[in-house]
Amino acid sequence: MVKLNDNFFKLKESYLFSTTARKIREYSAAFPDKPVIRMGIGDVTIPLIPEVADAIAEAGKGMATKEGFHGYGDEQGAAFLQDAIAAYYLRKDGVALKRQEIFISDGAKSDVANFTDLFSDDNVIVIPDPVYPVYLDSNMMLGRKIVFIDGNRENGFLPMPYEGLEGDIVYLCSPNNPTGAVYNREQLKTWVDFANKNGMIILFDAAYECFIGDETLPHSIFEIEGARKCAVEFCSLSKTAGFTGTRCGYTIVPEELVIDGHSLNKMWLRRQTTKYNGTSYVVQKGAEVVFTEKGMAECMKNIAYYKENAKIMAKTLDELGIWYSGGVNSPYIWFECGMDSWQFFDMLLNEIQVAGTPGSGFGKCGEGYFRLTAFNTHENTLEAMKRFKKLLAK
Ligand code: PLP
Repeated sequence: MVKLNDNFFKLKESYLFSTTARKIREYSAAFPDKPVIRMGIGDVTIPLIPEVADAIAEAGKGMATKEGFHGYGDEQGAAFLQDAIAAYYLRKDGVALKRQEIFISDGAKSDVANFTDLFSDDNVIVIPDPVYPVYLDSNMMLGRKIVFIDGNRENGFLPMPYEGLEGDIVYLCSPNNPTGAVYNREQLKTWVDFANKNGMIILFDAAYECFIGDETLPHSIFEIEGARKCAVEFCSLSKTAGFTGTRCGYTIVPEELVIDGHSLNKMWLRRQTTKYNGTSYVVQKGAEVVFTEKGMAECMKNIAYYKENAKIMAKTLDELGIWYSGGVNSPYIWFECGMDSWQFFDMLLNEIQVAGTPGSGFGKCGEGYFRLTAFNTHENTLEAMKRFKKLLAK
């Protein structure tokens, strides 16, 4: 008789986005003359830059020729893309990476979830609350013990380690989804020192690093001294370059990351060569362009567009005297809504036809908070904020 992994039955049903989508659908059907402005989406809306699309098209056409055809590539990624990423890290953050420390994938979500293959199931996992649900669910699927560290207004939704915090692996996401909060250098140094002292591993999700404009803030955990001994970094082209549908990400596993004499870099290589057959060559050719100086400058224009929306939202919240995090170095703004977050969702939808995401969907500490995203147009963002101001000023 087949035995199922009954850890799956312990997962909470993910009602969040299906429920918000259903509510929006029902409202739109009932009031077709009142279009809803969607500020809940975490997906990009600006197309790929033409240079990327051209590189993908050219590589695709080449696949129909004898010279341009590519079969299986290296599971860990093409050297041309690993080198382009290494050059980007050096240029941007002064971080030196070796080619073999960079593993190309089809996105950060799968890597974040799959990396846990390397760890025994009796590890204790430290997870911030509120959180990007993948960290939690992927570990719950393996029946692992979870310890939550609370984000709140007092710590600016940037939980820190404390004396007595027991755990083996911690997930940090900066700039954060959903709160938009960003760890500064001192805070990350505290985490790195704590991890090194206590034999902990930091799984650092830098998916939104490109939204950081403040030069004092770190983009990569490897800007912090000591991180190469305790951290892995996941990143993605999804938000950096609009690859949510194209799919490409990468994971950095430093060679110094050694536990009990075992190299995590070697273990991840072994895992990937066994369970992954490489990212599409065509996509990797497109991704290579993103990391050129010209390509990145073009991508940053799109990011600047989204950040302008975030600024519009932040200004509105400032004017209304509402406490928030994010919105400056992030596409997400997370604010105190002063009531049950689902009630607030219904109020925005029904009274001003603006849809966001209730904070409670990201964890218990999200109750009383609300997330808006910057991935809409300027026109819609301005209109949404105009209505928002009128409603909340009442
Ligand atoms: N990490 C965080 C924090 C995210 O918010 C997301 C997507 O929303 C991802 C990773 C997923 O990235 P990818 O599209 O590369 O799988």
